[in-house]
Amino acid sequence: MNIYDLTFEELENYFLDIEEKKYRASQVFKWLYKERVLSFDEMTDLSKELISKLKKDFNINYPLVVKEEHDKDVSKFLFKLNDNEHIESVVMYHDYGISLCVSSQVGCNMKCSFCESGKRGRVRNLLPSEMILQVIQIEKIIKKRISHIVVMGIGEPFDNFDNLVTFIKNANNPKGLEIGARHITVSTCGIVPKIYEFANLSYQVNLAISLHASNDKLRDELMPINKVYKLEELIESIKYYLKKTNRRVTFEYILLKGVNDKKENALELCKLVKDLNCYINLIPYNENSDKKYKKPKNDEIMKFYDIIKKEGINVTVRREFGSNISAACGQLRSKKEE
Ligand code: SAH
Repeated sequence: MNIYDLTFEELENYFLDIEEKKYRASQVFKWLYKERVLSFDEMTDLSKELISKLKKDFNINYPLVVKEEHDKDVSKFLFKLNDNEHIESVVMYHDYGISLCVSSQVGCNMKCSFCESGKRGRVRNLLPSEMILQVIQIEKIIKKRISHIVVMGIGEPFDNFDNLVTFIKNANNPKGLEIGARHITVSTCGIVPKIYEFANLSYQVNLAISLHASNDKLRDELMPINKVYKLEELIESIKYYLKKTNRRVTFEYILLKGVNDKKENALELCKLVKDLNCYINLIPYNENSDKKYKKPKNDEIMKFYDIIKKEGINVTVRREFGSNISAACGQLRSKKEE
């Protein structure tokens, strides 16, 4: 097992189990998360016996970066995992800091009609270590600190719930990556029971919901998950989340030309979310391999934006990052090296 798969508490319990002192967990976490050593031998404040015990029970295997692509404010990294599967992560340089878009699965089972990541189906969940090490590995390469994490890469994070929670704990823990909860965003297509479960954890991380349509008929067509959890149930679960956490949610809404970008769509969207503490993030569609949809023209995007704004709802248009290197939303793939 990779030692990065354990939370701090789990590591404390491990040491208690082997009749060691609990504070060993603090020592080891410092080596892992602050010093970022690549082997147990480098943990110089541990005894030889303890080091060989750790070596027997754990490994520190990093996923390898096998390809990097750079564009103006964005870099994309292709990782090769230990079983030869591949995933991608994307770094975005903002004026407020550096954010990393982390993948949560190899492939994805959600089959949203506009998204490249689901083309292969879910191959497997990523381990917490494979999510954490995307951050650490990339920080080592860019030699800068990542200030924000968005779990918006390949995969549906709520379809890998337990590993996601371990990841969040270790990302947020001051002894871990030490990234503030409010700097972490999880995006889901709307797996309703998991939204309740997440709400009950009362984390202060940001929740984003991929909405993309404001009625069931259209959402059924775009996102198969809507056949399982209808909009009404989804909105109910979000109300519960808001009550429980006192946070604001983000609704992501892709703009697909001629599909969901008309005036009546905007008005229907406003009606759907008007009583919720939320904001809407419009995502101009990023074209990908199947050419099924088109991106609306800029003035059509702004018209849609203006309607929402006029209704008094907070709205932004997502800056288009990385489409030159296929690093934008919906373009990431779990592809083998070409
Ligand atoms: N499975 C999660 C995480 C993926 S996040 C989720 O659905 O939220 C990636 C975001 O990009 C989602 O809002 C997704 O719907 C959106 N997206 C997918 N394909 C896209 C495309 N071609 N253009 C723009 N956004 C896209």
